[in-house]
Amino acid sequence: MSSRQPMGGRMRFHVILAFAVTLFVAGSAGAHNEWGTFNPEFNDEAGPLLTEVTDLANSTSDEDKRYFFSRALLWRPGQILKACFIGGTQAERNSIFNSAARLLNGARINVSIDFQSTNPFPDCKKNAQGLYTEEIRIAVGSGVKCCSARIGRNGMKKRNLGEANIFLGGAPQGWQVWHELIHALGFFHEHQKPDATCRFNYAEIKRLWGWDEATVKANFDRLNNDERDLRFSSGFDRKSIMDYYQSSPTMLVDGAQSPCYNPAPAQTLTGVDYEGLRLAYPMSAAPDAHRQRVARVRAVVDLSGVSPELRELLDME
Ligand SMILES: [Zn+2]
Repeated sequence: MSSRQPMGGRMRFHVILAFAVTLFVAGSAGAHNEWGTFNPEFNDEAGPLLTEVTDLANSTSDEDKRYFFSRALLWRPGQILKACFIGGTQAERNSIFNSAARLLNGARINVSIDFQSTNPFPDCKKNAQGLYTEEIRIAVGSGVKCCSARIGRNGMKKRNLGEANIFLGGAPQGWQVWHELIHALGFFHEHQKPDATCRFNYAEIKRLWGWDEATVKANFDRLNNDERDLRFSSGFDRKSIMDYYQSSPTMLVDGAQSPCYNPAPAQTLTGVDYEGLRLAYPMSAAPDAHRQRVARVRAVVDLSGVSPELRELLDME
């Protein structure tokens, strides 16, 4: 959907991937959660935060506080994320845009990506402090690695504002763009979620993919979390767009017999993938109600023991 509107004295296309309002049914089974990331550096950043968030949520039975902590990495329901590009040609940018549109348009997910303009697609712009202000900063073109993304609001930490938070160099496939965009919406990997019982052969992964031990662990270790407010799913969906495929069955202890064996990357989102996104960003969640709930928590919650990293995320809204 696009519409024209004047901005700063000149006409500009204001392109927002928008979603039809629909009734959201909470508590449905089997959607995905927010755990995991493709890029090991970014996983190193996000993983400890999740552990801390988990501990904090476990320490209280207050539903408002649990809600507050569980959304530390997620954007606000209904938030319009401003998108821009770093590098790349108009054609390369257009390709990413088209994939994003296919992911989000009509998907009934209550968060939007505003590309501001499609001809030309906008460059990300630094402010006087040398920091970008856009929420979705996509690095494209030759010379950029593919593919990785910071998890959700990690991309808005001050120390991350000097660069892109989504890296889609070369000519990424649609499924790669979707996978990284979903990371940027705050989601982690399917195979790392607590319910996944995949047994990986780390030595084989190191050998086949050329990763070191820490990298393998960061991207394959199961995350330790079973708190319902922190999960958007139960079970394990082998066909999820957020699941890694195995280039060889030997990457799994149980080989091709493993319930996790997935010889090819997912080409599309599953129904359960969409369900997870809708649980994180329900159409029924009014931005004002969210803000009020967060304000209520802020007034009473004790953040004195919270790490500076998490504090920055919690203070961001
Ligand atoms: Zn990933």
